[in-house]
Amino acid sequence: MSVQTTDLVKAFCCLGNGETGWKEVALPTCGPLDAILKPLAVCICSSDVGIASRCPPGVQMTLGHEVVGEIVEIGSLVRDFKIGDKCLVPPITPDWGTVEAQAGVSSHSGGQEGGFKFTGQKPGVFAERFHVNHADANLAHLPDGMPLTSAVMIGDMMSTGFFGAEQAGIEYGDSVAVIGIGPVGLMAVAAASIGGAGRVFAVGTRPKCVQLAKDYGATDIISYKSDNFVEKILEANGKPLDRVIIAGGNSSTLGDAVRMIRPGGVVANVSIMGYESMALPGASFGFGIADKTIKGGLCPGGRLRLEKLASLVMYDRVDPSKLITHEFRGIDKIPDAFEVMKAKDEDTIKALVYI
Ligand code: NAP
Ligand code: ZN
Repeated sequence: MSVQTTDLVKAFCCLGNGETGWKEVALPTCGPLDAILKPLAVCICSSDVGIASRCPPGVQMTLGHEVVGEIVEIGSLVRDFKIGDKCLVPPITPDWGTVEAQAGVSSHSGGQEGGFKFTGQKPGVFAERFHVNHADANLAHLPDGMPLTSAVMIGDMMSTGFFGAEQAGIEYGDSVAVIGIGPVGLMAVAAASIGGAGRVFAVGTRPKCVQLAKDYGATDIISYKSDNFVEKILEANGKPLDRVIIAGGNSSTLGDAVRMIRPGGVVANVSIMGYESMALPGASFGFGIADKTIKGGLCPGGRLRLEKLASLVMYDRVDPSKLITHEFRGIDKIPDAFEVMKAKDEDTIKALVYI
C-alpha cells in the first residue's frame, strides 16, 4: 500500500537545550516486511527524559519507545499480522537477518545498540503514527483480556528487569541484591523472586518503591543512603551474595556490587552508567583472578520474548501494572506525563497516557 510522504503527523519531540514540544513530522512509510501503527497507550521512560536533556541544539527527534499500538498499515510480505490487530511493541526492534542477531546479540543488530531504533535511527512512538520494522519478528499480539496498563509495561520495564535477572543467571536459593528499585529494578526483584532466588535484598529508599519491592518478593530492604550499605548487606547475609543486579546507582555502584559477590558470583548491570570511568576494588576483584563475572546489556527485543513475558502476566506470575502511578487521557497529555516523569517526586514510578 503506498503512502503520501508529504502527509504529516503530530509528534512530541526533543528540540535541544532540554526543550520538548509538538512538531509535525512525515508520516512513516511502510516497507514490505513492516507495519505502521497508531498508539493506544504510551508510557514515558526515564530514558526519554535523559535523551531530551542531552538532545543537542538544532536536533529534533520524536521521543518514546514504550507503547501498545494498533496496526493501520501492513507490509505485503507480513504473514501473521493484519490491519486492526492490537500489538505489544518492544523498544528494541532488531534486524533479525544481521550477523549480530545470528551471533545472539540481536539488540546490537547492525552495530552497537543498533536494535534500538526509536528516537535516534528513526522517530519514536510519541506520534499519531509510528513505524515498526520486520513486523512478524518484532510485534506480538496483545493477549485477549490483558489491560493496557500491564501491556505497556512488558516491552521495556519488564523486559529489562527480567533481562537483569537472566544475565545474573539466578539459581534456586541464590542470594541476590537489586541495586536501584525504580520500575526496572522492581521488575528485576520480581524476576529474581519468581526465578528461584532465596533472599532478595532490594536497595532503595522511596516508600512507594519499597512497598512494591516487598510486593514483588524482596525479603530485605536496604537504603543506599545509609552509610556502608554494602557492609550491611554482607553482615545480614552472613556471606557474600551469589548475584547482584544493578538498575540504578552512581559511579561507585559497580565497585560496590563487585564487593558484594562471592567468587563465581555475577554482577549483571542494566542501568545506563553515564560515567567516564568506574573503579573496581582491586582486592575484592581478586586483582583480576576472583572469578567474578560482570555483565551489562541492552534489553533484547523481538516477538518471542514479548510473548513469553506476556505469558507471565496472563498467568498471574507478575503484575507489572502496579508500576503505573499516574494516568492521563489523550495524546495531548503526553507533555504532562513527561513533566511528571521529569520531576519524579516521591510517589512517581511510571506515567501512562491512553491515546
Ligand atoms: P529510575 O526510575 O531512574 O530508577 C533508578 C533508581 O535508582 C531510582 O529508584 C533511584 O532511587 C535509584 N538510585 C539512585 N541513586 C542510587 C544509588 N546511589 N544507589 C542505589 N540506587 C540508586 O530508572 P528506571 O526506569 O528504573 O531505569 C533504571 C536504569 O535502567 C536507568 O539507568 C535506565 O536508563 C536503564 N535502562 C536500561 C535499559 C537497558 O536496555 N539496559 C532499558 C531501560 C532502562 P530513588 O528512588 O531514591 O531516586
Ligand atoms: Zn526505556
